[in-house]
Amino acid sequence: MDRIIVIGRGMIGSAAARHLTSINDGITLIGPGEPADYAAHDGVFASHYDEGRMTRISDPDPDWAVTSKRSIERYPEIEAESGIPFFTNSRYLGIGGTDTSFLDRAEAAGRALGADLTRLDAQGIRALYPFLSVPDDADGLHEDRDAGHLNPRAMVKAQTEAARKRGATIVNDRAIAIYPVPGGVEVELASGDVRRAEKVLIATGGFTDACGLPPLDLKLRVFGRTVLLARMEGVVAEQLSDMPTMGHAETGAYILPPIRYPDGHNYLKIGIGTTDDPEFRSLTELNHWFKNPGSEENRDRFRPFLEGLIPALTGVAHWHTASCVVTWTATGLPYIDHVLDNRIAVAVGGNGKGAKSSDDWGWIAAHLVAGLDWEHPVGRAKLGIPGNIAG
Ligand SMILES: Cc1cc2nc3c(=O)[nH]c(=O)nc-3n(C[C@H](O)[C@H](O)[C@H](O)COP(=O)(O)OP(=O)(O)OC[C@H]3O[C@@H](n4cnc5c(N)ncnc54)[C@H](O)[C@@H]3O)c2cc1C
Repeated sequence: MDRIIVIGRGMIGSAAARHLTSINDGITLIGPGEPADYAAHDGVFASHYDEGRMTRISDPDPDWAVTSKRSIERYPEIEAESGIPFFTNSRYLGIGGTDTSFLDRAEAAGRALGADLTRLDAQGIRALYPFLSVPDDADGLHEDRDAGHLNPRAMVKAQTEAARKRGATIVNDRAIAIYPVPGGVEVELASGDVRRAEKVLIATGGFTDACGLPPLDLKLRVFGRTVLLARMEGVVAEQLSDMPTMGHAETGAYILPPIRYPDGHNYLKIGIGTTDDPEFRSLTELNHWFKNPGSEENRDRFRPFLEGLIPALTGVAHWHTASCVVTWTATGLPYIDHVLDNRIAVAVGGNGKGAKSSDDWGWIAAHLVAGLDWEHPVGRAKLGIPGNIAG
């Protein structure tokens, strides 16, 4: 019998498993790896199957800012422990316009935590990044130290490897059901195996409600997202070699600098959440979405926007799209809460920005399931599931 099983070997689950190994022994982390052949895969996918996620301290919501800071501070420890690097300090530039409120709030939350921030006007932005075409009323928030991008695939590998080195058992399988039993919980796996533990933490991201593992419907809202990638070649690659990660306050666009992908090419990536993005509830819908390259309409909208901001990209010949999902909670923060007495808990709901803070959401979840006192700047009530009486 295991002490604690974590279901979901993604960004939050793998972090929780690593943290749990410094609190308890008998930790098992269950989850499938990325499918080698998407088209032939009938199981679950994940929101971290990519090479780049933005990370920084500054965020308009102080709870996201503090969890990012605490996570970023631990990146070196995770990299060293696992031997797997995943963070690149490429810096961050937030671009605002006449409405400065987004950047004002992000700056205030960041400064309160000691983030390395500079406010820039249009001239300042152009001086630092001459390849950007910004209007004269542009407003910029620049974060230098500890900001940039992380490789989410590599971070999950690093967390998993560090947990394994500290004694966790890693099981490459999918959970299909959880049964409360006297003194614990049983987890049935797709392979037919059944594992028993004292407690279970469910960290299955966008697949949580669709898989139906928690004893209650969390009413998570899972939206399909499309990203557009531009292949970097020749002179454009040189021009953009010093690019930061960027956020565009007015449109919500996020843009990652050229990053090397498994096919050996470097790609610059843009994503924008749109109100036309599809919403999913079932495993079949999610499975279908991940097997397809996203929305053609979004591709047609994103490209001119990106070429307007970075005119050098008009020379790029190869563009392609990819799909992913984001998982929204009703609170805008992850749910980290018990859903059946102290035996079953959840840690889900990245709200489109769960990668940067994932280590700290995992830290909180580990402390919750282990039954330790709540000693975190984000209060426990804020991470509860609205209306949940089991927590
Ligand atoms: C296009 C896009 C861009 C993004 N950009 C950023 C960004 O720049 N910065 C940022 O901070 N965040 C970003 N995010 C969000 C971030 O990727 C997610 O918030 C994060 O991956 C959520 O972590 P998670 O652990 O909750 O989910 P996941 O990383 O999806 O992990 C869930 C895991 O659960 C597993 N699983 C599911 N069902 C089962 C089951 N039944 N049994 C066992 N295992 C199961 C899956 O295989 C998966 O490994 C972006 C997301 C998208 C889609």
